[in-house]
Amino acid sequence: MSYRARVRIAPSPTGAPHIGLARTALFNWLFARQHGGTFVLRFEDTDTERSSRQSAQAIMETLRWLGLDWDEGPYYQMERLERYRQAAQRLLAAGRAYHCYCTVEELEAKRRRALAQGGQVRYDRSCRRLSPDDEKRLIAEGRRPVLRFKFPESGVTVVEDLVKGQVEFDNAEFDDFIILRSDGRPTYNFAVVIDDADLKITHVIRGDEHLNNTPKQIQLYRALGYGLPQFAHLPMVLDQSRHKLSKRRSQIETSLKSYRDGGFLPEALLNFIARLGWAYDDKQEIFSREELIEKFSLERVGASGAVFDEEKLLWLNQHYLMHGDPGRLGELLREFLVRQEIMSTQEAQALPAERLQTVVGLFKERVHTLVELAESAGYLLTERLQFDPQEVKKFLTPDVVPLLRALATELGELSEFTPERLEPAVRALLAAQGSSLKAAAQPCRVVLTGVTRGPGLFEIMAFLGREETAKRLERTARLIETGQLNRPLVEQNGGSRERPGGAGSA
Ligand code: GLU
Repeated sequence: MSYRARVRIAPSPTGAPHIGLARTALFNWLFARQHGGTFVLRFEDTDTERSSRQSAQAIMETLRWLGLDWDEGPYYQMERLERYRQAAQRLLAAGRAYHCYCTVEELEAKRRRALAQGGQVRYDRSCRRLSPDDEKRLIAEGRRPVLRFKFPESGVTVVEDLVKGQVEFDNAEFDDFIILRSDGRPTYNFAVVIDDADLKITHVIRGDEHLNNTPKQIQLYRALGYGLPQFAHLPMVLDQSRHKLSKRRSQIETSLKSYRDGGFLPEALLNFIARLGWAYDDKQEIFSREELIEKFSLERVGASGAVFDEEKLLWLNQHYLMHGDPGRLGELLREFLVRQEIMSTQEAQALPAERLQTVVGLFKERVHTLVELAESAGYLLTERLQFDPQEVKKFLTPDVVPLLRALATELGELSEFTPERLEPAVRALLAAQGSSLKAAAQPCRVVLTGVTRGPGLFEIMAFLGREETAKRLERTARLIETGQLNRPLVEQNGGSRERPGGAGSA
């Protein structure tokens, strides 16, 4: 199958970009890339109260972060008002649209009456039947009309959908909806048709909340004499209790920025989003960008809801952390050390790239996000340790002091400070002190790192190096001896960088 596909996304720039938008963008982008087609970006900004250029910027920034580059646009509907006016004039002249002078209050009263009588709350089409004299009178009253589309009163409108199949709508279910507001701004269903026709969009791929709008759009295409694009409506994204993913109802975070700030890699998010409603087979979960372009197809998009599985996202992110380019991950770690306030920008910039890469290597199998990486690896890169109060109580008791001193002195004598050389040396030393690795490993880790989790003890020592290891052993021994590990943070840090939650800082 090869044709000049032209697809688009048409987000409303109102608020922060979310998962649903990224999914629609990705599927359109994949479709375009697969068919050597064009991916267009258009902003539906006619809701002038809620739209903002800031939001449009944030959407573009997110698309760039995800690597979803567009070939054309951005177009803005508010810059195309003249086009909508012309099309509306055409419908008016052809008798397919009419002015409606009903005020908001009148419409509301009609709605209430209809509800009270148990009837439908659709517009009663009263202005369809106005005589020229009626219109003159209403204009003289100072009323400013809207323009309504004459929707067929009977028959059916069939949507041939590439995902949902054939969906039939009863025309009697629709009313003569507004296409132009009294101030000349078009409504969504009208503007989207003119735009998609002008931009020669071949496939309209979007969320299935718009399926019910499609009959309105199809009737407009016909009335304006335009050919129809193909439609593909993507299944709604659901949370695990199968509710629509929405800010209010579910615990799941929907804003894309929060995933970026939360330390997710764009390739992990992209892989995850691709699987929201699409599957290649019932096995494969990991897809590179190139593989997605090769394997994606609308035929394999499911018609029912796509469930958002947070565990899977974490798993995918870990996968990409484990297999990502160490150089790039090292630089991302540098960024997150600052973001997470583990160190200052200056300090982070001073860290050698190789050191960051080594840290990535030590931790990549133990963390799921860049935030976790920065937070758990921070102690290897900064001298300021955050002692976990529980661990201090449990492990850093005065009786370990002699052991720490012995380690500090004797390890200084080792010819090579590598995990391989450290292990037998430390074991021998502990035995000589009447201790064992089993008993001393955890206290030592806490002394060196503040916590018990993380890479192996010898890897930590080797990474810190001879001097820093000895310094930390010595310093913590002193703090235990003088009881300072339990003093408030501010005093120990000289008031500089206290972070809440720790029992002490060295
Ligand atoms: N502004 C609409 C939305 O973001 C566009 C729908 C469409 O693609 O037609 O949902």
